[in-house]
Amino acid sequence: MSNFDQQFDVVVVGSGGGGMTAALCAQSLGLSAVVIEKSDKYGGTSAVSGGGIWIPNNDDIARTGGSDSYEEGLTYLKEIVGSEVPQERIEAYLKNAPEMVRYMAKTFGVKYRNVPKYPDYYSNRPGGKDGWRSMEPVDFDASLLGPEFDRQRESFKGTLLMGRIAMSQVEAHTLFSRGPGWIWLTLKMLLKYWLDIGWRRKTHRDRRQVLGQGMVSALRYAMLQKNVPLVLECGMDSLIEENGRVVGVNVVHRGRKQRYGARRGVVLACGGFESNQAMREKYLAQPTKVEWTAAPPINQGDGIRAGQALGAATKLMDKVWGSPTVRKPGADQQITLFIERGMPGCVAVNAEGKRFANEAAAYPDFRDAMYADHAKGNGCVPAWLVFDATFRYKYPMGIFLPGQIEPDARLPADWLDKVYFRADSIDALAGKIGVDRKGLAETVARMNEYAKTGVDPEFGKGSIPIDRYYSDPSVKPNTCLGPIVKPPFYAVPMYPGEIGTKGGLDVDPKARVLREDGSVIAGLYAIGNTSAAVMGSTYPGAGSTLGPAMTFGYIAARDIAESAKAEQPKIAAAA
Ligand SMILES: Cc1cc2nc3c(=O)[nH]c(=O)nc-3n(C[C@H](O)[C@H](O)[C@H](O)COP(=O)(O)OP(=O)(O)OC[C@H]3O[C@@H](n4cnc5c(N)ncnc54)[C@H](O)[C@@H]3O)c2cc1C
Repeated sequence: MSNFDQQFDVVVVGSGGGGMTAALCAQSLGLSAVVIEKSDKYGGTSAVSGGGIWIPNNDDIARTGGSDSYEEGLTYLKEIVGSEVPQERIEAYLKNAPEMVRYMAKTFGVKYRNVPKYPDYYSNRPGGKDGWRSMEPVDFDASLLGPEFDRQRESFKGTLLMGRIAMSQVEAHTLFSRGPGWIWLTLKMLLKYWLDIGWRRKTHRDRRQVLGQGMVSALRYAMLQKNVPLVLECGMDSLIEENGRVVGVNVVHRGRKQRYGARRGVVLACGGFESNQAMREKYLAQPTKVEWTAAPPINQGDGIRAGQALGAATKLMDKVWGSPTVRKPGADQQITLFIERGMPGCVAVNAEGKRFANEAAAYPDFRDAMYADHAKGNGCVPAWLVFDATFRYKYPMGIFLPGQIEPDARLPADWLDKVYFRADSIDALAGKIGVDRKGLAETVARMNEYAKTGVDPEFGKGSIPIDRYYSDPSVKPNTCLGPIVKPPFYAVPMYPGEIGTKGGLDVDPKARVLREDGSVIAGLYAIGNTSAAVMGSTYPGAGSTLGPAMTFGYIAARDIAESAKAEQPKIAAAA
């Protein structure tokens, strides 16, 4: 066998949520594991995410008054995923996901709680639920990480209250939808942060870690406790194959080429290809730009290409975990519009000034609708979110907080009519953004009628639970529909971005990478966005990317451990 610079049972490539889970599980099952990470920060996109995982039939459901079953989860996934993904893989997910959550809590103290009010994205379909299946990481105290805290990828300011204060998913929902006690909650969060004076002297980052930061912190802390090594600035260059089996990876560690041996398996957990313009042009709907992604500029499709070089098959390469995004000058990433579109008093239009979708639709569907409309020649890239002064005052809009906290006067002067557009009439606004004037006037007039009746006969905005998750419960009769009447009027361009790509290496229910003929490439596993999504083209609910990334990390580790155990007697007999 080849000479290696380092050798482990399992080499995990990539330090996102899935990769760290796989390494932890492998080590706890008696194998030696290492995580190699190309960048100088660990955590990947997972660290900047909401940290949510979608876990049907999770143990926390009963505590919060819900109910679910394996069968209902299966009904739902069969209904919305269809035949695009083999049922055995879907079943592997549903069986192992709650088990993975239990195992991570018990073995490593990596804990999740459910988000009771977050509905499935198609909760009106058979097996769908109006809440409970999405879970979020419990709070983590960053001081436990010591110096490792500084090596973690930081969250985006947009996910923090006032750009600084950590906000869980449940808290964000209460604040943005002005749920009961939102003012008191805001004050409590502000006080807690500002009174933590000793910690604030050390860093501007909140000691309280939630969302993706909470998840990655808890995983990294568990790695430190269990002595699972992490090697930063160590990028996989290619896979090493011997006699039809993957036995290691060629890496570049701080400029030096090295060979890492993997006695039992390599787990590719190095994300998708959202930051690779050439791959975007080759696979995704056009037009497409790296600048439209909301993910950090790290994942270049390295794992997918390394697998392809060994003859691995790929699937779903034209699909993404889509979301409309907006551009904030100077920010590293685009900002996703998860919340804003559901708020009352806005309308999304194409260059004709016409609507093309339910504004409040789940973010992947809204992004897909942009491309579908653009393909019809209606000029929907960018699309425009148009709103009035009342909306601006009350609600956030991606690049800025509600006007009552961050008025126009506090925004950089050079953003006006470049980043956001403002005019005293709808007609003048249409002129500024190059949208058909008559079309926009008619659309706004129609939306104002819908706000009165509470019914959107065109796209049914506000008619299903997910539309209303982020909306304003004080607005009647439809919490997602409000008049667009008060000048000045605003418009912000939206781009068809994503939070990650979902096409990748074809894998079996054990996360083993497959060739075109369906045979397994021995020793090679792929999880997270390096693998083709178990959810196919759809997006069942919040946490549909990280739930599978962690679950298949757990499954891969178990499969590697079981095959190692099965091989022991053979090795002993041969000796
Ligand atoms: C704002 C935002 C919010 C989101 N919220 C959620 C949410 O709440 N729930 C959810 O399910 N999803 C969410 N997502 C999506 C989710 O974060 C990603 O789909 C997920 O993190 C992908 O996980 P991964 O392990 O495949 O990739 P990553 O987490 O990106 O990890 C891949 C790692 O591999 C490293 N790497 C790349 N190439 C190499 C190489 N050659 N060698 C070594 N290392 C390499 C990268 O640097 C990176 O650290 C969100 C995304 C964004 C942007």
